[in-house]
Amino acid sequence: MAWFRSLIQVSAIARSSLIKPRSKNTFHIAPTPLFGIAPFSSEPTLETQTQSVTQFSGLGPTKTGDKPRVVVLGTGWAGCRFMKGLDTKIYDVVCVSPRNHMVFTPLLASTCVGTLEFRSVAEPIGRIQPTISQDPGSYFFLSKCIGIDTDEHVVQCETVADGANTLDPWQFKLSYDKLVIALGAEALTFGIHGVKEYGIFLREVHHAQEIRRKLLLNLMLSDVPGISKEEKSRLLHCVVVGGGPTGVEFSGELSDFIIKDVRQRYAHVKDYIHVTLIEANEILSSFDDRLRRYATNQLTKSGVRLVRGIVKDVKAQKIILNDGTEVPYGLLVWSTGVGPSPFVKSLEFPKAPGGRIGIDEWLRVPSVEDVYAIGDCGGFLESTGKPVLPALAQVAERQGKYLAELFNKIGEAGGGHANSAKDVDYGKPFVYKHLGSMASVGSFKALVDLRQSKETKGLSLAGFVSWFIWRSAYLTRVISWRNRFYVATNWATTFVFGRDISRI
Ligand SMILES: Cc1cc2nc3c(=O)[nH]c(=O)nc-3n(C[C@H](O)[C@H](O)[C@H](O)COP(=O)(O)OP(=O)(O)OC[C@H]3O[C@@H](n4cnc5c(N)ncnc54)[C@H](O)[C@@H]3O)c2cc1C
Repeated sequence: MAWFRSLIQVSAIARSSLIKPRSKNTFHIAPTPLFGIAPFSSEPTLETQTQSVTQFSGLGPTKTGDKPRVVVLGTGWAGCRFMKGLDTKIYDVVCVSPRNHMVFTPLLASTCVGTLEFRSVAEPIGRIQPTISQDPGSYFFLSKCIGIDTDEHVVQCETVADGANTLDPWQFKLSYDKLVIALGAEALTFGIHGVKEYGIFLREVHHAQEIRRKLLLNLMLSDVPGISKEEKSRLLHCVVVGGGPTGVEFSGELSDFIIKDVRQRYAHVKDYIHVTLIEANEILSSFDDRLRRYATNQLTKSGVRLVRGIVKDVKAQKIILNDGTEVPYGLLVWSTGVGPSPFVKSLEFPKAPGGRIGIDEWLRVPSVEDVYAIGDCGGFLESTGKPVLPALAQVAERQGKYLAELFNKIGEAGGGHANSAKDVDYGKPFVYKHLGSMASVGSFKALVDLRQSKETKGLSLAGFVSWFIWRSAYLTRVISWRNRFYVATNWATTFVFGRDISRI
């Protein structure tokens, strides 16, 4: 690729008015269209040879007669559901994301201990929207967005290489007719020192891989001669911070792993391994009292120690709580909710309460043309009178579906190109109806609450039947038949043969 880049590295421009400009970088332009599509015009600067991150022209503005181009930022629940529903006979779609797959997050905790394999919860984007890898005007770019110029209808992107040092990153630009921002959210640390350094979040497949490797490493090291009893206890102390559904489900998975697999296959150290769940308030605060009590009893019965406390500091081998208690750990999983990413915060759009990108009832960013925000990164502006919706897959997915239908309607009415949808009737606004919540608590038990809120009437139950509903519901929600088959096979294999404990 280096030869390719030096071939096209002829000039640079520094673009102004990007919402998040990278003033230091240069912008190198291809002498011929980079992707067979109109390139940006450019002016040379003297900086070309001196910058480590170089910039290239990307896809230029579409012309009348071309298909309008929708640029989608992010391959999460919202972005993927949107792309799946978009009519690609009307639009070209270009997706920019640092990962080429969608993660089926509700089952991610199960991959940390080997109940499921990692590939069972990852759906490649090319399977969700095949056009992206086939049509001449549609692409997926493994990159992150670093700036948005809403006046020019341009996004600026930078490639990601995941630490591989075969290529330096470079930047390029994309013109859009319509922009869908589906950047998700990031784990909250509340500024607590040491969390990012020593804790592991549970949001991506690579996090689950890190957790599984560390857990198995600690199990094996604790079996080696020469290790003291104290060190063994520390190594095998798994601490989960955050008692929301993710923290609880992960604790349940861990306790299942300990009861069914560690006791059998790591019998020498089985008495040393423990799970502690630390929560500042109640666990599972979105569920009602009865279900919360059930979850507390169930977790305690499975050996999970529930601790009410606030983490003050995280060190390499111990956590310090507000009351001064020191909690030594070998594995720390941090799951205390999510908030907007620094990039979302840096975008100069009006913000909804909590710092998400402010949107109206049609999911538009109202202050600019042709920009929409869906999923965890967007929230209704206060002026809409609607609350900011919870950071849930069911919200993101339904917003993606709604927006795809809206775009198809706009496209059919001839409003697909930039600045051309002003007179289109947008129809009904997005309305969210909560379908209920579920959480597994381990030992074939789960909570299912199908009420719209804690106060309303409806089905809410806990136990084995709920666990069966939980599993069936998620099995049917897994995106493709291929992954549905993987998940079902993994569950059956785990049930018959136990979890895979090889540290690969
Ligand atoms: C372990 C876990 C379990 C969960 N369980 C449930 C559940 O049971 N039920 C439920 O309703 N919800 C659940 N959730 C929440 C749910 O997953 C999120 O609400 C949902 O993923 C939000 O979708 P999204 O598309 O907004 O964001 P995400 O799915 O987070 O996707 C964001 C995308 O943006 C990309 N991105 C980030 N920065 C950039 C950038 N600068 N440029 C380009 N792309 C970028 C990311 O790589 C990613 O592809 C769970 C979450 C987790 C982590």
